[in-house]
Amino acid sequence: MRLVLVGPPGAGKGTQAQFIASNLSIPKISTGDIFRANVSGGTELGKLAKTYMDRGDLVPDEVTIAMVRDRLSEDDAQDGFLLDGFPRNVPQAEILKKMLADWGQALDLVLELVVDDDEVVRRLAGRRTCSQCGRIWHVEFDDKQDDLCDACGGTLFQRDDDKEETVRHRLEVYQEQTAPLINFYADEGILVGVDATGPVEEVTQRAMDAIRPFLG
Ligand SMILES: [Zn+2]
Repeated sequence: MRLVLVGPPGAGKGTQAQFIASNLSIPKISTGDIFRANVSGGTELGKLAKTYMDRGDLVPDEVTIAMVRDRLSEDDAQDGFLLDGFPRNVPQAEILKKMLADWGQALDLVLELVVDDDEVVRRLAGRRTCSQCGRIWHVEFDDKQDDLCDACGGTLFQRDDDKEETVRHRLEVYQEQTAPLINFYADEGILVGVDATGPVEEVTQRAMDAIRPFLG
């Protein structure tokens, strides 16, 4: 099964990626992991990427694509993979399609985690971070009434990233960038949406139910 997972910030994509990949016994390949592995492994691509990251610049597409190509060439990815964080846009999706075609492969499925904006805001804007130990609490899900950390007594605060205004802006940016990608895969006939609200295990179950018909 060759699978791409897409979803907005706050959809629990990282967690679902892990569970789905392990259920299917395929490697979970995230761009974050690939970057870290290349940088810590001191590969040529890693060194190149680091020069951009050290300057606070975005790593150019061709460097990311070369890293993805290297990773997908590895033995463990030959019978399938779950991609998380790539492709991010239509040009990358087209390159991935061609890359796989050159190897006689194709994507089987693109799974979109669907959560409405208000639910994302509820999840992210309710987060409070401990200023001492960094632990994250949720005003609603952890029933956090005071602003003190239950683990260490530190003061809790709301990270700028978690402020409602910032979350709504990140969602807008996501929609803008991802809508064309979603349309691209819908046209390819391999897009399936999964309701990503509710408990983590239920979402994984829904995802697995959606994947099953596509298993060869
Ligand atoms: Zn703490």
